[in-house]
Parts: sequence; structure tokens; C-alpha cells
Amino acid sequence: MLKGKVAVITGGSRGIGRAICEKFAENGASIAFIYSGNQEKAEELKSKLLSAGVGAEAYKCNVASFQEVTDTFKQIVKDFGTVDILVNNAGITKDKLLLAMKEQDFGEVIDINLKGMFNTVKQVYPIFAKRKSGKIINISSISGIIGNQGQANYSASKAGVIGFTKSVAKELASRGVCCNAIAPGFIKTDMTAGFDETNPFVESIPQKRMGKPEEVAELALFLASSKSDYITGEVIRIDGGLAM
Ligand code: NAP
Repeated sequence: MLKGKVAVITGGSRGIGRAICEKFAENGASIAFIYSGNQEKAEELKSKLLSAGVGAEAYKCNVASFQEVTDTFKQIVKDFGTVDILVNNAGITKDKLLLAMKEQDFGEVIDINLKGMFNTVKQVYPIFAKRKSGKIINISSISGIIGNQGQANYSASKAGVIGFTKSVAKELASRGVCCNAIAPGFIKTDMTAGFDETNPFVESIPQKRMGKPEEVAELALFLASSKSDYITGEVIRIDGGLAM
């Protein structure tokens, strides 16, 4: 489905991002993925992707740094020739009730989760606009739609992702570029390590289970493929019904 395409995935070394790297590779895309520090996981994934027979490279880069992102994308274009698909997935949480939340907790989450997307989309915007094609997929969260206590910083960043997605979609629609957001609910990754199926909270999910990273990856694959060419500026929840 993605044969010959070059996909850049931020936060690709673990969790949802890793599942997206694997799914896109299974479907023929070359993968350039970005991670922040976990080199062991990154190297392991790179080997796995290469053994699937696609091009693959891991790039250590803090998405919150405009300079690092600019240098990394220059290197990616040098290594792979171009970029066709960008998945903005890197994200962190620093959960605390607002009363206890420090200025730094707020700033770091906004810088990585939201400004990180500005930094990466700035790199592909001219490429996609000139070529008149491209797919941008931004990972938001249901916290950005309905809010969540203890997540004022995270919810603000993820709501910002939705506004950002719609603005970019409007700017690039006439150029044949699609920009959409995915809003997951509770997905089993390191980020939700404190939760499992036995947590009473899971009972409040209409489907009574957490989601799997592979399920989010299937949705990302659809949004990255030509099957979704007439969908842009959309936010798709994948949450077992939690935020309906
Ligand atoms: P995760 O397992 O904690 O993985 C986070 C990934 O982001 C890792 O690859 C990490 O790299 C990378 N990363 C973190 N900070 C970075 C930075 N400053 N620059 C570059 N890369 C950075 O997270 P996840 O659960 O898969 O979440 C992925 C995305 O989905 C996030 O945006 C998250 O907010 C969103 N989301 C998750 C859930 C959920 O339930 N899990 C729900 C809704 C939305 P290293 O391996 O090097 O640390």
C-alpha cells in the first residue's frame, strides 16, 4: 500500500510510533524514525525494519528543538531522497493537578507535544506544497477533546494539535496534501504502564478494554495511503467509545 514511499515517524522507537513504523514497513514504505534517547530500542527496531526488506534509519533528535529537527530532516532527505509521509507521534506526559504543576511541567509538554509538530511540519511543508502531494498524520489524544484531570498541560497540547492540524489542512488542501489527526484513548504502551485491564478505570471504557498500538497503526496506515485522499482536517478517535 505504501511501496516506494518514504515515511518519517517521530517517537518511532517505542509504543504507538514503533507499531506505525512496523506497519508502514510491512506495506513497503522506507522508514526514517526519530527517537529521543533510547538508543537500544532504536537500534533493535532499525534491524527489524531492515530485515523486512525496506530502507530504515534511526535519528536521535529532540523534536522540541527547531535546530535539531532542521538538521535531522536535512539528513533524512540526503539519505532517502525525499519525504512522502510525516507522522508526528512523539509525545510525553507530566501529569499533576494544576495546583502542583510547575511552569517547567507545562512548558516541556507543550514544547515536545505541540511545538514539536510546528518544527517538523515546517520541514516538509515546502516539499509537499511544491510536489503537490503528501500526508501528515498528527497524534492527538481524547484528552485534547474532553480534557482530563491532572493533564491540563497535556490536554492543552493535544487540543492545540487539533487546531494546528485543521489550519495546516486548510493551507495545503489545494496542493493535494492531507493533514489529519488521530485521537487515541487508552492504548497499552510504556506511557500507560500504570494501567492494565484490571484497573477499575477500564470498566468505564464502553468496549471494556485498552487499545493496542497495532490498532492505531492500522488507522495511521489508512490515513497515509491513497485510500484516504479525500479526507483532510479530520480528527479520528480510536478509544473503544470512551469519548463519545
Ligand atoms: P511512549 O511509549 O512513551 O513512546 C514515546 C516515544 O516518543 C518514544 O519513541 C520516545 O523516544 C519519543 N519521544 C519522547 N520525547 C521525545 C522528544 N523530545 N523528541 C523525540 N522523540 C521523543 O508513548 P506512546 O504511548 O506510544 O505515545 C505515542 C503518542 O501517542 C504520544 O504523542 C502520546 O501523547 C499519544 N497518545 C498515547 C496514548 C496512550 O494511551 N498510550 C493515548 C493518547 C495519545 P525514546 O524511546 O528515545 O524515549
